[in-house]
Amino acid sequence: MLPFQTMGEAEASLGRNLTFAETLWFRYSADKSDYFLYCHNTIFLFVFYTLLPLPCAAAELLRSYKIDRFKIQPKVRNNLCRMFKCYKDVMTVFVCAVGPLQLFSFPVVQAIGIRTGLALPSVSEMFWQILVYVLVEDYTNYWLHRMLHCKWGYDKIHRVHHEYTAPIGFAASYAHWAEGYRYHKEVFGKLREKSGGKYDISVEDLKAE
Ligand SMILES: [Zn+2]
Repeated sequence: MLPFQTMGEAEASLGRNLTFAETLWFRYSADKSDYFLYCHNTIFLFVFYTLLPLPCAAAELLRSYKIDRFKIQPKVRNNLCRMFKCYKDVMTVFVCAVGPLQLFSFPVVQAIGIRTGLALPSVSEMFWQILVYVLVEDYTNYWLHRMLHCKWGYDKIHRVHHEYTAPIGFAASYAHWAEGYRYHKEVFGKLREKSGGKYDISVEDLKAE
């Protein structure tokens, strides 16, 4: 919750007029708790993971030659029913695991200093913060992903993430609940068999499939 009762108090504290964005943020957030504002992230999670894969899904369903010629697996077709199943499974994991985890993570967010108050960060501050977050997230995600390709991690958890061997947007976050869902043996078990038991499947393996 902002420590100001009025916009005048906020401007006096900052020593300047509020920007347009800060005015909008003040009107929306002044009487809301920090935790309530933080919970908006969970809504964003559902909205973004629903909307952002849609262009990829549309491109897949259009069956346009202009798009299909860039596909690694041009013969593989993901139909609407398969995509919807993937989306439904992802949302189930979000509701049962990812969302609750996020809601309980508020103390961590507070501890690392993420704030909701005024002044709003400048464009350059946001740029550098996002750049660093993306690099840290990408680096740690890469090594965690590699670690899960060990035999135990792959058999017990990670193979679910690779069930969809032809990429679709919704499958980006399709995984065992322990890394963001449930076991599926068939597709990857078959692929692994085909690849002689190795755990890193190459593009050629996928093309062959
Ligand atoms: Zn993997």
